[in-house]
Amino acid sequence: MSARTIPAYDPQTIEAGRQAAWRARDAFATPSIEGARPRRYIKPSAPFTSGNIHIGHVRSYSIGDAYARFSRARGEDVLFAFGFDAFGLPAELGAIAGGESPSDWVARCAEHMRGQLERLGYSFDWDRAFLSSDALMYRWSQWLFVTLLDAGLVYRGTGAVDWCEHCRTTLATIQVEKGLCWRCHNPVRLIQRPQWYLRLSAYLQENDRRLQDLAQSGIWDEVALSSQRFVLGRIDGVEIDLGDSDRDALTAFTPHGDALALARFVLISPKHPDIDRWAEDPAVRERLEDLRSGGLERGDRDAEAIPLIDTGRTLPSPASDEPLPVLISPAVDGRFGVTAILGIPARDHSDALIAERLSLDASDHAAAAEDATGTAAGDATAPAPPVPGARPAVRYRASDFSISRQRSWGTPIPIVYCAASCGAVPVPAEQLPVVLPLDLKPTGAGNPLAERDDFVQTACPCCGGPGQRETDTLDCHFDALWLWVPACVPPDARGRPLEEIFALEDLRAWLPSERVVAGSDSGNFVFDQRIVTKALRDIGPLAFLLDGEPFAGCLFHEMVIRDGRKMSKHLGNVVEPDELVASYGADTVRLATLYAARPQRSLNWSDSAVLRCHRFLTQVWEFSHAQLAATGPAPGPSPANRLAPANGHATVDGLVAPAAERGSSDAQGSSDAQAPPRDVTGHLRSRLQKWCDTAVQKTTEEMAGLEMHSAVRNVMRLFDRIKDFEKRVLARTDALGAADRDALLRALQVLAQLLAPLAPHLAEELWIALGNDGDALMPWPDVSSTVPA
Ligand SMILES: [Zn+2]
Ligand SMILES: [Zn+2]
Repeated sequence: MSARTIPAYDPQTIEAGRQAAWRARDAFATPSIEGARPRRYIKPSAPFTSGNIHIGHVRSYSIGDAYARFSRARGEDVLFAFGFDAFGLPAELGAIAGGESPSDWVARCAEHMRGQLERLGYSFDWDRAFLSSDALMYRWSQWLFVTLLDAGLVYRGTGAVDWCEHCRTTLATIQVEKGLCWRCHNPVRLIQRPQWYLRLSAYLQENDRRLQDLAQSGIWDEVALSSQRFVLGRIDGVEIDLGDSDRDALTAFTPHGDALALARFVLISPKHPDIDRWAEDPAVRERLEDLRSGGLERGDRDAEAIPLIDTGRTLPSPASDEPLPVLISPAVDGRFGVTAILGIPARDHSDALIAERLSLDASDHAAAAEDATGTAAGDATAPAPPVPGARPAVRYRASDFSISRQRSWGTPIPIVYCAASCGAVPVPAEQLPVVLPLDLKPTGAGNPLAERDDFVQTACPCCGGPGQRETDTLDCHFDALWLWVPACVPPDARGRPLEEIFALEDLRAWLPSERVVAGSDSGNFVFDQRIVTKALRDIGPLAFLLDGEPFAGCLFHEMVIRDGRKMSKHLGNVVEPDELVASYGADTVRLATLYAARPQRSLNWSDSAVLRCHRFLTQVWEFSHAQLAATGPAPGPSPANRLAPANGHATVDGLVAPAAERGSSDAQGSSDAQAPPRDVTGHLRSRLQKWCDTAVQKTTEEMAGLEMHSAVRNVMRLFDRIKDFEKRVLARTDALGAADRDALLRALQVLAQLLAPLAPHLAEELWIALGNDGDALMPWPDVSSTVPA
């Protein structure tokens, strides 16, 4: 037995060494699609190029990376790469603050973030990474814009949009938080402005229908599914035609189909297609225009204060003699989408508040509700009295949204306004991309793109006469619609025309993405990506995605908080991953984020998880090296991860030390050895083997189900049992015999394999120390091979 010193656990050295080895062998290059192995495209979220990887990113990418490494270890071909979401207001503001151009700022930020991600050891294929602000990439946005415009799914409209006066820009729904601008937290107003819109409505019903399939797939987690239901905002009810003349005809909806007799008024959305018929009265029209252009404080959207315009007209009630006053109010949109509804104060709190403002006595209606249905008001299970003409109907809260922004750091909208009579002319595909000038100096106010004559003045693509370019840019939310596709494109094909790219076999091989792993605030992005995939399926480029779903599976994880609160510089409770990595190493930080909470729960940060995981990794390291030092030179490389019988149970083979060193390693059983010593520890080895089998089986299931927090616990438990095995053996004998030490080293090998997706650097270093080939992929231990034949 040779004495060997036990090296200290030094994550900085170990991790640098493993990362250099991964780079040297290009370990995470996307495999060619020629192979016959199962393929898995794991889609991480596309980070904003904020310049800093925060602990929430670490959580997200540690989950995705563990899944990617697990899949590779199981013999699957994995695509794991992402693009930086590089356009948008945050980048523009960062550039303003830094006194540089947004393109320089973004390049610097992306470089820094890549360095942070590489230090954390994530197994991204960096050859496939990209910035959405590269002209080669944002031509995707322009192509998509023109393609959807051609299909009628992008349109120019004039309507009320959310507007932040402070930022001088329109906002998407996703950017309005509790009525306030997501960026400056000032109140948001509704104003009237010409905008480009994305027509979601065309595919809402299909997105709804597909939800069942997604739920049945079993690989859409509940948080992700409920986010899709929430964004969709489906409301079931009935609709009924009111009025009998062309001028009066109106279809009204209500979720309270059993209470039509209790309707007291009709509310119409100001965006209703027939609104003009209800605003013929000059005074009504004036108030409607006021509502549209004068703005509406977000706070006024509560039923107590929301504008109500009395049209002065009525419609007959569907089930009583009382005529219903017709009112126009944006109260409809946020709850039922662009439609008309019956106001039923007896059943609906918001309607009751509106009824109060109309001086209708709510208590009478509550009593009326009881009379009419024989039950207390609000009891939705009461049988519906049949009302002629009422039919089941569905409304969706999700609605078309503006994709224009009055900002310069974004994809130029490929439209030219002809000075003659051609109107708004899309730029032909062969002239794309319309290039964004890179030397713009945004100041934070207005739109500097509109002041650049060299950009604005151009020829009309239609008649060749003078024209002016659209100076609004696309919201980066629009870029996100395609950000999941280009990772599938081999880097050398990236410059080809998009028609050719969509014809590549690679897209058919990798899509749909097997799993998207993203924060639970990504519901809107994923919803809109699902809409656009269906559009591109029907238009043709993604026709091979028959169900129009970009993601076969989806995991949404919650955020990382501290002391029960969202992390913010203001609160001084931000956890800096770089500092943690410098103190404890990447493996510890990754393991701690996986260990601390299941993905669907908020991770309330505490340093104790870091300390716990660091102690665990240190003990694994020291214990393993102590065993190896006691054993002698590291055993030879494992030819295969297979099993040899021992004591009636199979064990993992490949850790057999040279016979001269180990003594009678063949004589693990007692049958053929001459004068064998009485085997007092055989039952302990059997038990250790069973523990290994159990750990492999459970960890496999949990990794496949992205339940990494449970996987970490199982690996920790296995380590405890390995230590327990040694303790019990030593309680029965003076020292570990060869068979006991073999069993123990084999168990440590299984431990290293199970740990590899979770703490990849240490696991691989251990794997090598145990005598395995460090240049090859660590295989996942096979459950079936650890179970006795
Ligand atoms: Zn703002
Ligand atoms: Zn023209």
